[in-house]
Amino acid sequence: MKRDDMLSRLRAGERFDLLVIGGGATGLGVAVDAALRGHSVALVERGDFACGTSSRSTKLVHGGVRYLRQGNSRLVQSALRERGRLARNAPHLVRSLAFVIPAYGWTDRLFYSIGLEFYDALAGPLSLGSSRMLAQVETLEWLPTVERRGLRGGVLYRDGQFDDARLAITLARTAAARGAVVANHVEAVGFVREGGRVAGVELRDRIGGGEFVARARVVVNATGVFVDELRRKEEPAAKALVTVSQGAHLVLPRRFLPGDAALMVPKTADGRVLFAVPWHDRVVVGTTDTPRPASEAEPRALPEEKAFLLEHARRYLAEKPREADVLSVFAGLRPLVKGRAGAKTASLSREHAMVVGPGGVLTVTGGKWTTYREMAEQVVDLAERSGGLFSRPCGTAEFALIGAEAGCTSVYGSEHEAVMACGAATPLHPRLPYVEAELRWAAREEMAETVEDLLSRRTRALLLDARAAAECAPRAAEILAEERGHGSAWAAGQAGAFAELASSYLAG
Ligand SMILES: Cc1cc2nc3c(=O)[nH]c(=O)nc-3n(C[C@H](O)[C@H](O)[C@H](O)COP(=O)(O)OP(=O)(O)OC[C@H]3O[C@@H](n4cnc5c(N)ncnc54)[C@H](O)[C@@H]3O)c2cc1C
Repeated sequence: MKRDDMLSRLRAGERFDLLVIGGGATGLGVAVDAALRGHSVALVERGDFACGTSSRSTKLVHGGVRYLRQGNSRLVQSALRERGRLARNAPHLVRSLAFVIPAYGWTDRLFYSIGLEFYDALAGPLSLGSSRMLAQVETLEWLPTVERRGLRGGVLYRDGQFDDARLAITLARTAAARGAVVANHVEAVGFVREGGRVAGVELRDRIGGGEFVARARVVVNATGVFVDELRRKEEPAAKALVTVSQGAHLVLPRRFLPGDAALMVPKTADGRVLFAVPWHDRVVVGTTDTPRPASEAEPRALPEEKAFLLEHARRYLAEKPREADVLSVFAGLRPLVKGRAGAKTASLSREHAMVVGPGGVLTVTGGKWTTYREMAEQVVDLAERSGGLFSRPCGTAEFALIGAEAGCTSVYGSEHEAVMACGAATPLHPRLPYVEAELRWAAREEMAETVEDLLSRRTRALLLDARAAAECAPRAAEILAEERGHGSAWAAGQAGAFAELASSYLAG
């Protein structure tokens, strides 16, 4: 997957069936679906693939136990179906994980186990395993570091876990392998109309510079929390479709939760669900639900969010984490489809919405990572109808993504050896699980164009340990400069910009 080739094809004047704006879960899912159906499709992303919400999730492929409490069993059932499909189609990126709810009250265990039996039943044949009640001693076997005072027992259930940014890159490469044009660091800045209908998009190359137009029969706006910004370029008076809510996470060393299970707290002080999840040999603790007045590309966790997460981690873990233990803090913005005025963001629907604007632009937003495939299927169905494209059957439900290999522990799946053959096996940093070969692979095959692309989304160094990531940024910049033929000044600029970003992922 080479960016220069993609840009040449974008600039060549071809009229695409679909042009997708936004390279997160939603847009990439649409590109894969459309390409598999045989439509010509292009996708542009103004930053890097998944640089928005799609690399900042809690990393769960789940039905969403808490939506059961909201009585939304339809959403849960379709998410559980998608969870099963994704586990089958990308087994190298999705794994089944045990989740344990510690019970401190006498009735809690029974209450949660009834709810989780219903959750199991909704998953049907795509279940990842049954839930069951645990005695106190079993709870401590699964969660050796959970707070013991007052612990009565627990409930165990199974859900999925994944690497969100790696899945996004895999979708981009899968789409490209099926003929799609996918380009990162290309921004949609305006629409081109023909007889009132949007017939193309003005694009800006944010790396090489310059603006140009790409034409399409249907333009899809899949820009997450930014959809309204783009809709107003089509329809200046368009009413807002989304409300923005922020979720923050802390990353802790694995010793705080060393067992094989994730810890799930079904009700925090503000009525939310909280997780502590083992991930790449760290523990991700999250999340919050804080309404935000505006969308931003690089959201920051607020001091009160960090305090809330630390306080809850201290409440449920035997070793009480301090601020100095936090390896990284990251936040993401949820595009929530607007509910009634005054509704709490935690109670707004996680379902998606699709609207076709007066110029024919198809906007899709909301939903969950887990349901990206189903959303994409509906978007392409609608695009075929609204844009007069040939109607073709969707082929993604049973389609294995690039690298898919069951039982493989590497995020590269069947490509692991090819990745490692790309360069030296020199570790990038003593505290990070990466080697230099992976950066060369990312530069050559995965369209990594900046040090941030390399250390935040191709590897997850920034999330695993922000300090270590900043320390290895100069070497990552050198490698990328070599791969792209840039000089030392370029490399120094990249390393400096990354160090500044990494400092905002530190807890203090
Ligand atoms: C804190 C948090 C935790 C979550 N945890 C989970 C979870 O565990 N499991 C789960 O299933 N779901 C989870 N979700 C939901 C899930 O992450 C989102 O539903 C999903 O990532 C949204 O993807 P998207 O493509 O719609 O948006 P995004 O990923 O934000 O993608 C939109 C993209 O559009 C680009 N863009 C914007 N404007 C332009 C333009 N003019 N030109 C070109 N590109 C543009 C942006 O740069 C961005 O990359 C979580 C969400 C949050 C916030």
